[in-house]
Amino acid sequence: MSKKIPEKMTLLLVALLCVACKPEEATKNDPVVEVPASATEHTLIHNARIYTMDQGFSTADSIVFSNSGEVRFVGNVEPMLEMFPDAKQIDLQGKTIIPGLIDSHAHLAGLAQSLAQAQLQGTTSKEDVIRKLREHETGLSEDDWLLGRGWDQNDWPVQEFPSSADLDREFPDRPVWLRRIDGHAAWGNSAALAMADQDLSGDWQPQGGHIYRDEKGQASGVFIDGAMSLVGKAVPEMSPELMQASLDLALQQMVSLGLTGVHEAGASLQVLAWYQQRIRDGKFPTRVYAMTDGAGETLDWLCENGAVIDDSGRLYMHSVKLYIDGALGSRGAALLTDYSDDAGNSGLLFMPPEVLEAMVDKALGCGFQVGIHAIGDRGNRVALDALEASISRHPDNPGRHRVEHAQILTAADIPRFARLGIIAAMQPTHATSDMYWAEKRLGAERVQYAYAWRSLLDSGAHLALGSDFPVEQVNPMLGIHAAVTRQDIKGWPEGGWYPQQVLTREEAVRGFTLDAAYAGFMEKSVGSLEPGKRADFIVLDKDVMQIDAAEIPSIRVLQTWLDGELVWKR
Ligand SMILES: [Zn+2]
Repeated sequence: MSKKIPEKMTLLLVALLCVACKPEEATKNDPVVEVPASATEHTLIHNARIYTMDQGFSTADSIVFSNSGEVRFVGNVEPMLEMFPDAKQIDLQGKTIIPGLIDSHAHLAGLAQSLAQAQLQGTTSKEDVIRKLREHETGLSEDDWLLGRGWDQNDWPVQEFPSSADLDREFPDRPVWLRRIDGHAAWGNSAALAMADQDLSGDWQPQGGHIYRDEKGQASGVFIDGAMSLVGKAVPEMSPELMQASLDLALQQMVSLGLTGVHEAGASLQVLAWYQQRIRDGKFPTRVYAMTDGAGETLDWLCENGAVIDDSGRLYMHSVKLYIDGALGSRGAALLTDYSDDAGNSGLLFMPPEVLEAMVDKALGCGFQVGIHAIGDRGNRVALDALEASISRHPDNPGRHRVEHAQILTAADIPRFARLGIIAAMQPTHATSDMYWAEKRLGAERVQYAYAWRSLLDSGAHLALGSDFPVEQVNPMLGIHAAVTRQDIKGWPEGGWYPQQVLTREEAVRGFTLDAAYAGFMEKSVGSLEPGKRADFIVLDKDVMQIDAAEIPSIRVLQTWLDGELVWKR
């Protein structure tokens, strides 16, 4: 039964509905908004503390959405009860609701892969790594490689790169191949190195990479960036069954931590095909905004076929991921001057600037967004230069290009982001992971412009926040905590690390909601709770805007809703 809306309320409803309307969708010929014939096809959640994360930072106590997953009304409960008398009601007993969180830079397929490997994050010594590897080996069959991810020599008593010999004693026959925490270095045993299809000894180095060698010129076991593929390409592919099982675990982890969206920073066509199959099977409880893995075959395919836009609203590929340098931890980040703790070494550019510019040009010419991985101040400058040159040649490209990480900048380059409309896609937990040693690498001067969220935001740039999982942990609350405190979860250092760069709660949560949506061209449908948008939201056990900042990491997600459907419940 439809119910007539009092006139005053109709006007209010029209006004609210049109917050998210595009001009051409305005209801100018249709002044009365009709309540749908079957009002039971709505859910009304009331007695909640709702942060809508709209531009005005509104709060509300109730939300109504249709069963098709569209938000109809956010505000006070009284008019909603009258408008939607037959809606299914849920009393939230004062719990907090915020929009579903969106990680604007992560690796979902990488998380799935890593869940099938030995998890070495948090290991405190080589012995600790070997103990974890032995545990993991019990689940392997005879021919499997022993793969792992997450070691970090900076967390060990002796902060030096390990060698093959460290692994050979325990694993003389089975190939062992272990990616460093940042994914920019790998450590292999002799059995793995023997699988390379070329002789690794001598004094040569591959393009954009580095092989560590002993005095005799033999590869000693650690490979940086462009050198990793020398051994890495011999690693057998995961079976489709193992990949699907691991993807289940990865998706489960995401929704249980309140993520309703992720920007996948580098996906192949094969990964895209897996996701599409899962969407058809109804087993994909998230939204993926995907970037290609470089300017190769995936970009060629996109240029020919256009952006991937799945009707489900769960998959969108319109973006090209490029890389200009490596990571700070492995000294692969390209700096303008030498590392402060390694004279003569200023890191590596993956390719000459003109090659990057040609790739950017190709992507922009095909109409796509570009996101360039840049860590060092030289890497960032080269990325900004390439974007600046190419943007001016492609005025029809929709823009919103991004620098992924934008980690170490110079004072001169910070204002270029806002001026060029370039989004800084940053990961707050990178700062709190790196703060123990970053100043050693960079010195007291350069570090002022590292992880400089506040400076970028104040310059007028768009920020989009993320985690870079599985490099960092998946939990977005850790990112919000790092953004507002610049402290680790133990509260170190007191007052925060370079605390002039902290964000407010509102800015941090917006970085994981509306600003992340903007970076993926999705701000019209997700990122805030407003009429006309998708009902993607999460229920928290504590109020993320009010509790003590030190408690943010312990916030639990109680429910995750996607498209108005409860996809996870604690
Ligand atoms: Zn990444």
